[in-house]
Amino acid sequence: MKNDSRRSFVKKLGLGIGSTAILPTVTSFKTFSEKSRSPLGVKKLNVALCGLGRYANMLATGLMESEYCQLSGIITGTPQKALLWKEKYKIPEQNIYNYNNFDDIKNNNDIDLVYIVLPNGMHKEYTIKAAKAGKHVIVEKPMAISVLECQEMIDVCKNAGVQLAVGYRLHYEPHHIEIKRLGQKKVFGQVRLIEASLGYDLTGTPPNDWHLNKVLAGGGALMNLGIYCIQSNRYVLGEEPSSVTAQFAPITMPDLFTEVEENISWQLNFPSGAIGTSTTTSNCNVDRFFASADSGYFELAPAISYGPFKGRTSVQEFNYPVINQQAAQLDGIGKLLLEKRSLPSHISGEEGLKDIRVIEAIYKSAETENKIYISN
Ligand code: NAD
Repeated sequence: MKNDSRRSFVKKLGLGIGSTAILPTVTSFKTFSEKSRSPLGVKKLNVALCGLGRYANMLATGLMESEYCQLSGIITGTPQKALLWKEKYKIPEQNIYNYNNFDDIKNNNDIDLVYIVLPNGMHKEYTIKAAKAGKHVIVEKPMAISVLECQEMIDVCKNAGVQLAVGYRLHYEPHHIEIKRLGQKKVFGQVRLIEASLGYDLTGTPPNDWHLNKVLAGGGALMNLGIYCIQSNRYVLGEEPSSVTAQFAPITMPDLFTEVEENISWQLNFPSGAIGTSTTTSNCNVDRFFASADSGYFELAPAISYGPFKGRTSVQEFNYPVINQQAAQLDGIGKLLLEKRSLPSHISGEEGLKDIRVIEAIYKSAETENKIYISN
């Protein structure tokens, strides 16, 4: 009973660990063949999805709703998926690639941007391949599994003259735009304390799932979920943490967590004196954000997963619409690229690297049981 409800919660969150990749249940949408135009009057930005797993399905739904982008190509190692997606989205045969012929994408003018939705440990390789093929890149979070990898990705994209973004969807979500404003504009004065935690109960996950594999995932809950807590701390405060102390908690599912951490908690210290305290875990469900400032507070719960988000400040409830977060993110990025403008710094590779720098410091602190100072 408990495990059933746990599994359904995970499914509801869209993480779907252990489930088979399915096609989105979209009933009507504009397909690639319609070559629809963006509100700018020019053809939409042509996006190819690389890796057709669970989150790629959500992005495909977002692309169907996007005003500025369209799904024009796919990269997959599974011929059966290629066939299903080709039929479902009317993707031309010449825009379908696998991991062996990926580099040929450089000759394809029908693809402007490659969206990397592969396991974390593969982000660097495929970002670099896409950049060298002359395509703009969006890479999912975490940007990569080390600062060194992130820097290499940034450098290659710069040298190739393509733009690089990290798939930080929450920068396009109204509740998060508001908490960022409340924090950075000091609407309730200086934020002193943030508590942000994210966890999914992964009971029942198959032991061969890549999230449990150190090479493919780069780490456990911190890499996959905790990164959102770090992001929200940083964008609400508008500051970089100067030091961290962190602790691993005991493993409760020893059969699953042989390579990556199941739980980790940490405290970030910021130059303003603000403290950010977080836990990320794979053994229970938690999704909340709370900020206490000099003259009030603001909070979200659910806060980070796919929502619908709910929140309030110390004086009023939030009343923002539920949006398709992926469509909003793709529209924000697509519009700027069609206008040949630079993407904003808050979704840049440099931003992705900053989160990984904090993650590396958190791991180092937990491993050494020491406070770690972070140089920015
Ligand atoms: P998934 O396991 O559902 O999909 C991964 C895809 O990669 C699959 O299609 C799989 O076939 C393919 N793949 C290719 N080589 C592989 C290999 N060696 N091992 C395993 N899979 C391989 O995973 P997902 O949940 O879609 O996550 C993909 C990426 O998207 C991750 O980086 C994850 O952090 C990110 N993500 C982001 C969000 C978000 O809200 N922004 C949500 C979920 C996942």
